Amino acid sequence: RTVYVNGEYLPEAEAKVSVFDRGFLFADGVYEVTSVLGGKLLDFEGHAKRLERSLAELDMPSPISMEDLLEVHRELVRRNDLDEGMIYLQITRGAAGDRDFVFPDPEVTPPTIVLFTQSKTLADVPAAKTGIKVISIDDIRWGRRDIKTVQLLYPSMGKMMAKAAGADDAWMVEDGEVTEGTSNNAYIVKDGKIITRHLGSEILHGITRAAVLRFAREAQMVVEERAFTIEEAKEADEAFVTSASSFVMPVVSVDGVSLGDGMPGPVAARLREIYLDESRKAAV
Ligand code: PMP
Repeated sequence: RTVYVNGEYLPEAEAKVSVFDRGFLFADGVYEVTSVLGGKLLDFEGHAKRLERSLAELDMPSPISMEDLLEVHRELVRRNDLDEGMIYLQITRGAAGDRDFVFPDPEVTPPTIVLFTQSKTLADVPAAKTGIKVISIDDIRWGRRDIKTVQLLYPSMGKMMAKAAGADDAWMVEDGEVTEGTSNNAYIVKDGKIITRHLGSEILHGITRAAVLRFAREAQMVVEERAFTIEEAKEADEAFVTSASSFVMPVVSVDGVSLGDGMPGPVAARLREIYLDESRKAAV
């Protein structure tokens, strides 16, 4: 595989990052994941804009223009002959000589930028037909979940807790209300209404969420952006999650309680279809 590190395309075995890199020492970095279908990027602009915002919120200068970033994405698709999968992008505050909590001067210590591809079937996956099971766990993450940082230890632990409980993923709960999934935004459907948590610093502002809500409204579906409780989720008619790599994924049980008939619901199925159609059309 060819990867991109600080301006160079290299075979993965030759790509290196310093042991002093602040991404490694402090999780001082941000990332994005952009999906590729048919060799084209889905929602590149949305991901690029969120990246700029994440960087700005952390006072990190961008090491690359958005035009060049698009070119790097496309070049990696070409060099790796990627048809379907993801492009992972990470920018960290770079490697200062010593370990120091204080941010280094960006003029002296430039950010580190890494991109790599991952080939994976995304569209035609069995889970889209069977749905996934989620459990609820406490949301004990920090208060700036709107910044897409590489601090993913707790979400990773959440997936392990789900696995240990015989489920597929976890929904995180704060003050009785669902914030989001470990790596996706969470939705329930009740009496035809699509309910998903409002934006704020408690959740990541999903690029897929924005697109799916737009498509839902265009299709005259009713959308309510508000917090919902885990109890409401257990009584919902259906549920689903969204993310760049899972698109719209039906959820068929919450904490062992089956939703509806235990099969993916019609709203989730329809939104997945619309999202895939529209995103393919708009892919670059
Ligand atoms: N919430 C969290 C915590 C996530 O990690 C992700 C995926 N990175 C999402 C939501 C979904 O965001 P997106 O649709 O932009 O992939």
